[in-house]
Amino acid sequence: MSDAILVFNAGSSSIKFSVFVADDDTLRLFLDGQIEELFSAPVFTVTGADGRRLAHTAWPQGHPLAHREAVCFVMDYLTQQLGSVRLIGVGHRVVHGGLQFAHPVRVDAAIAAQLAQYVPLAPLHQPHNLAPIHDLLERWPDLPQVACFDTAFHRTNADLEQMFGLPQPMFAQGLRRYGFHGLSYEYIAGVLPRFSARAAAGRTLVLHLGNGASICALRGGCSVATTMGFTAVDGLLMGTRSGSLDPGLVLHLMEQHGMDVRAVQQLLYSESGLLGVSGLSSDMRTLLASDAPRARLAVDLFCYRIRREIGALAAVLGGLDAIVFTAGIGANSPVIRARVLQDAAWLGVDCDAEANAAGGPVISSATSLVDVLSIPTDEEQMIARHTRALVRAVCSQPKEPAAAGPQTTT
Ligand code: AMP
Repeated sequence: MSDAILVFNAGSSSIKFSVFVADDDTLRLFLDGQIEELFSAPVFTVTGADGRRLAHTAWPQGHPLAHREAVCFVMDYLTQQLGSVRLIGVGHRVVHGGLQFAHPVRVDAAIAAQLAQYVPLAPLHQPHNLAPIHDLLERWPDLPQVACFDTAFHRTNADLEQMFGLPQPMFAQGLRRYGFHGLSYEYIAGVLPRFSARAAAGRTLVLHLGNGASICALRGGCSVATTMGFTAVDGLLMGTRSGSLDPGLVLHLMEQHGMDVRAVQQLLYSESGLLGVSGLSSDMRTLLASDAPRARLAVDLFCYRIRREIGALAAVLGGLDAIVFTAGIGANSPVIRARVLQDAAWLGVDCDAEANAAGGPVISSATSLVDVLSIPTDEEQMIARHTRALVRAVCSQPKEPAAAGPQTTT
């Protein structure tokens, strides 16, 4: 009988899941799926590792599914389908681990309560991330669960990098830059030695360019600085998020435009970014295919913001050895990569046009002073690895109760 790890990535209106089979020391994707549109017309789909559609269920419009029902539906489906595969643990993507959780942690009721304390820091994501944890604790209390955090990888950032210019006591109260997309950066840092020893050991910028977008500056594979800060709305222009703006603008919107907190939140998170600038779409493929001037403007601003942040982060690192592109846009769009690299030519970056068009992984020319790579990220694989490591660590000490504090997997 094979062991398997289930990974949940639960958002506000969808629950994504993946199952990895643990063969010896490898984790092999077995299937993945999702329930989308939970609150309007839910659709459940499952795809095998070979791309074959394994299941499709659609609920009629007006039949919303609560998170709990959706989780139970997924668990019941997996119980029927996994056959001789034994589920040994469930890993969850959790956006915020605060200052306390610098590593993944095995979750029990006490840890789940601690994680709920971070809801005010990430009100749009944390409650949804935690919902399946509570559901499983209640219905399958013996199934080991592990929480993996988007913030954890950046806990290596120096205090100076994390500080805002606010009164000092506020820093200790948690008003600081946390950074996000950490599971993606951790995955990339882990695979870099396979592609470039220089990128793995040196000063490297990883550009996670997807619907959410950020850049992380790595030194020797550890996070030194990142463009997202207290929240995941900071930094680069994104699909529907504004990226950095002057906090005085928020005050102005509230004072002069009569917007309340909810309206500003809606504007900054859901109506801005590529969608807001283009007035057309948050999807980069749609914008690249469009001749509309505002679509071009949105792409221009997306690239311009990246150019600014590359300059700032190269200054933080004191030079640059490598650039790595990842996520939906970064790993799939030669057009955006070429534009970003052209803008970074002043750093000695030179793109090999053919290699870039072919998708890499190495896309810098032989004469480039900076190695450039394009590598797909795999946050689910990262979560599955952490989950297996913590489940094994606990299984090897069967008499020990689950630890009440953060646990390391290294
Ligand atoms: P992610 O959030 O990582 O799934 O990335 C989603 C974004 O990647 C969307 O804006 C997509 O339009 C974009 N994307 C995916 N494939 C491509 C592609 N071949 N060219 C340009 N953008 C792409």
